[in-house]
Amino acid sequence: MFVDSHCHLDRLQLEAYDNQLAAAIDAATARGIQQFLCVGISVNNRQAVVDIAEKYPSVVSSVGVHPLDVKEGLATGEELIQWSQHPKVVALGETGLDYYYSEEEKVLQQESFVIHLEAAARVQLPVIVHTRDARDDTLALIKKYGSESSAGVLHCFTENWDMARRAMDMNYFISVSGIVTFKNANALREVVKQIPMDRLLIETDSPYLAPVPYRGKPNEPKYIKEVAEYIAALRGISLVELADITSANFYRLFNKAA
Ligand SMILES: [Zn+2]
Ligand SMILES: [Zn+2]
Repeated sequence: MFVDSHCHLDRLQLEAYDNQLAAAIDAATARGIQQFLCVGISVNNRQAVVDIAEKYPSVVSSVGVHPLDVKEGLATGEELIQWSQHPKVVALGETGLDYYYSEEEKVLQQESFVIHLEAAARVQLPVIVHTRDARDDTLALIKKYGSESSAGVLHCFTENWDMARRAMDMNYFISVSGIVTFKNANALREVVKQIPMDRLLIETDSPYLAPVPYRGKPNEPKYIKEVAEYIAALRGISLVELADITSANFYRLFNKAA
């Protein structure tokens, strides 16, 4: 079985499925994907992702405010803690720092990230971290405000080996998306070859970042298989072994989903 450890089921493009999310989930299930983590990105989509998790037995969700959505409003620590009590909410996030687009929002992003890290430590849930062009600040805030027992994952990882290693030293997992299949991703491929197998997760981040040969088209959870096939070949292991290990890693990290 495969797990899609990070997807945005509330944002999929469903024209090919008659606008039925159930049909897209069925298409993924038919390819062996048996668990989906539908990730919250803002105070405004929290209810939507929790509703999807309630409706579909194979879906769990997270709640949080994406660094590029902080302008829509921050969640307080109390809110995050309250929302996380839902039985199908297995993590906080995505949160983190993204300086690529938004230099001017840095301070607000940092404030929001700290709120998530502290709330996660209190409720002992893992944190889903989005990080881009903010290596040192991301690691420094995790170190200062995070706790090892609520360590989480650096999702859609595109940074260097040094950052991966320093995050893993703080108990973090590294999640790899379809970007690893892109022609220009040589540096990332070198990193992915080195990640210890017991620290590796896979994700689609759909509807974004469809893997080759679907690059540029809308992504969906069923393409986790292409991501898995690519990484298995890169690591020189079988697809079954890669699927088994990354699924086991998922339940070890998001143990409320187990
Ligand atoms: Zn992200
Ligand atoms: Zn995401």
